[in-house]
Amino acid sequence: MAARSLVSRWVAQGLLVALAYYLAGLFGLALPSIGRHITLIWLPSGIAVAALLRWGFRFWPAVFFGALSVNLSIGSSLPLACGIGVGNTLGPLLTAFILRRSSFHWEFDDKLDVVWLVGATLVGMVVSASNGIFQLWSVGELPGERIGAALVIWWMGDSIGVLLATPLLIALSRKTCRFLTGQGVEALVVALLLLALNWFIFLSSHHFTLAYIPVLVVMWSAMRFGVIGASITVLADAVLSAWGTAIGNGPFYLNGEHNLLILWIYIATHTVVSLVITALQAERGRSEAQAHAAYHRLNKVATRLPGVIYQFRYRADGNASIPYSSDAMRTIFRLEPATLREDASPALDLIHPEDHQNVMDSIRESARSLSPWQQEFRVRYPDGAERWLFGDSVPEREGDGSTLWHGFITDITAQKEVQAEMARAKVQAEVANQAKTHFLSAMSHEIRTPMNIIIGMSDVLSETGLDDKQKYYLTMLKNAGTNLLQLINDILDLSKVEANKLPILAEPVCVRLETREVIDMIDILARKKGVSLELRVDPDLPEWILLDALRFRQCLFNLISNGVKFTECGWVVVDLGQSDGQPPVLQCVVADSGIGIQPEHLTRIFENFTQSDAGISRRYGGTGLGLSLTRRLVEMMGGGLWVESVFGQGSRFCFTLPLQVTRPPVHNVAQGDDSRHPGSDPYPLRILLVEDLEENRALISVYLEDTPHRLTLVGNGAEGVRRVQESPFDLVLMDIEMPVMNGLQATTLIRAWEKETQRAPLLIVALSAHSMAGEAKRCQAVGCDDHLSKPINKRTLLLALGRYGEQLRAAGEG
Ligand code: ADP
Repeated sequence: MAARSLVSRWVAQGLLVALAYYLAGLFGLALPSIGRHITLIWLPSGIAVAALLRWGFRFWPAVFFGALSVNLSIGSSLPLACGIGVGNTLGPLLTAFILRRSSFHWEFDDKLDVVWLVGATLVGMVVSASNGIFQLWSVGELPGERIGAALVIWWMGDSIGVLLATPLLIALSRKTCRFLTGQGVEALVVALLLLALNWFIFLSSHHFTLAYIPVLVVMWSAMRFGVIGASITVLADAVLSAWGTAIGNGPFYLNGEHNLLILWIYIATHTVVSLVITALQAERGRSEAQAHAAYHRLNKVATRLPGVIYQFRYRADGNASIPYSSDAMRTIFRLEPATLREDASPALDLIHPEDHQNVMDSIRESARSLSPWQQEFRVRYPDGAERWLFGDSVPEREGDGSTLWHGFITDITAQKEVQAEMARAKVQAEVANQAKTHFLSAMSHEIRTPMNIIIGMSDVLSETGLDDKQKYYLTMLKNAGTNLLQLINDILDLSKVEANKLPILAEPVCVRLETREVIDMIDILARKKGVSLELRVDPDLPEWILLDALRFRQCLFNLISNGVKFTECGWVVVDLGQSDGQPPVLQCVVADSGIGIQPEHLTRIFENFTQSDAGISRRYGGTGLGLSLTRRLVEMMGGGLWVESVFGQGSRFCFTLPLQVTRPPVHNVAQGDDSRHPGSDPYPLRILLVEDLEENRALISVYLEDTPHRLTLVGNGAEGVRRVQESPFDLVLMDIEMPVMNGLQATTLIRAWEKETQRAPLLIVALSAHSMAGEAKRCQAVGCDDHLSKPINKRTLLLALGRYGEQLRAAGEG
């Protein structure tokens, strides 16, 4: 069924093609021609090309049949009609074949389509024209001398026919093609104008020779009515001009002869102009459609984004506009995008007054340097509500000096609120931390002062005649006091580390010497336990390194004393070396043959107040603070600490520190060599001790009992200042925390008095139980020469006094 209906459809289409060919042929033969067969415009070729292109090559018999009929109808013999018919079929077949193989589009929306159509037509029509001419010559209908001219006319006539008819028929066959919708009046004007012009130029006897004017109408039509309108116009124009010329009118009929070549060029020009304009129009339409589609796509995407996409233009005269903004402009700025296209003021006016200047400055700066614009700012809506926005865009300079930014603005109010909340929480945490640090510092002062006295007094007591039992009790007392002080120091240090208030210094340190001293401090205990304590130093290790001496000693002390503590008998070895890596690092290893650590405890032991297991504290004592503090200190100094251990066999604690080699420090008398014996021939000093606590005054008095120094005691800063002004002293030991007047104020007053009376400055040494960061600096700032941290033991004090005495002796001798 389906096959039959298909066949009948083909037959119907075939008959239609043949009939159209026949009728168009008769029409063509009515136009000026050479002999019976050669005519100026041969539209049937255009019909054939359109049919073969649109419906397929299988319609060639219809073309052939149409051509045959036309030729028979003008009285040609059957062989001649057949011969010409074959050529008239082969030509359009070749043209259609070339077009199908090329990139030609029926839509004529590209200049190339015109080029392909013209090219394929000229090639294909060579076949039909040369075949036709040959057929006519062979039957003697065309004399040999006219072959050339006839060939050109035939070829031109066929080609023009194709160029006139094919685009029109193809356009008509496309159902989607728009035809004069809503342009009826304009089309009528064009038609009347065309008729009038052709009447004047070709049909009347006015001899109006301005033959170039109709091309303007053709152009108008091509621009306004698309392929169909343009093709009909050109066809009508061609037919009217050819007819006029045929009846002996118009500019192409000169001296009693048709100038067919000019007529042909005239028609060909109109045809090509119309096709090119149509293609250009279609091309523009297509790019406009693409731009429109892209704009819609962008808009669709923009609606899904959490912000407004925009273009902002800032002109050289200071005017600003927002030529494009996505729909989110309505929610973010509560403004219609259209209202901002020419003038951005409504949006700029919404910027919070406090941020307005900043935003405008940043825009101007971005325009000046063409750097990306990024800004956080607030907007305030007419109802008083405020939001935080963030804008990010990239500028480009335009031809007229304006700057155009492309970017987005998004609402960051929620993020800002979280940030503000976090900042509040941080401030609260800092305040709490400061309170904790302050509390610890105050507590440490309060605890250290009595500890100072306990340890100091037991020192003094041990030098009196005691029996063994008493000595044993006293040692216990002193050890307990020292341990308690150590614990206080550790807690204080830890709180300083946590409050980021522990300053790390970089001073020239002789690591070998420092380590030796730490080992010496622990060696007595090690010997008692029967543990050997050995130091091994890499001979290539540089002598002086930039380090924080105090913290380095603290780390070593913790690790070595742990090694000794957790080794019943055996050895502890300290290795100092350096790694070969880049940058070089100082490597310290404290290894022991002690109890070792179970693998599951290896990481826990670095946590605050954590020991490897509960039994440890019972057997060995300790608080579990040492290692966590040590690790924090090592890290603050830029290094790392780790442990390797075999349970029951021993442990290796290793830490590294940056190795910065330096030169030895210049010798300083005030901080001179402590290794000297304190008692060797000290320079007698007149000392004023300014100290509020009676116990402390008593302690220092006892320390200095058997020395040549003379001590004067006063109980607060104000008394101290008075005594300094009354009697001569060599040295003032100035406590810092005191009632009535503290040590800092007293020192300030003494220094001012000295300046006023032009006296040589007195040696003032601050004594403080505050070991918080900055204490020494504060003392120095008011004019103290040195600073001793409590608790001060007898040896430290005597050594310091010895140094000050040497200084004075040297000054006196000088
Ligand atoms: P403390 O020594 O006061 O207990 P530390 O923080 O210095 O605190 O040490 C934590 C724990 O790590 C110790 O309790 C012990 O269990 C373990 N530890 C530290 N050093 C050694 C070591 N050299 N040998 C075996 N165990 C150790």
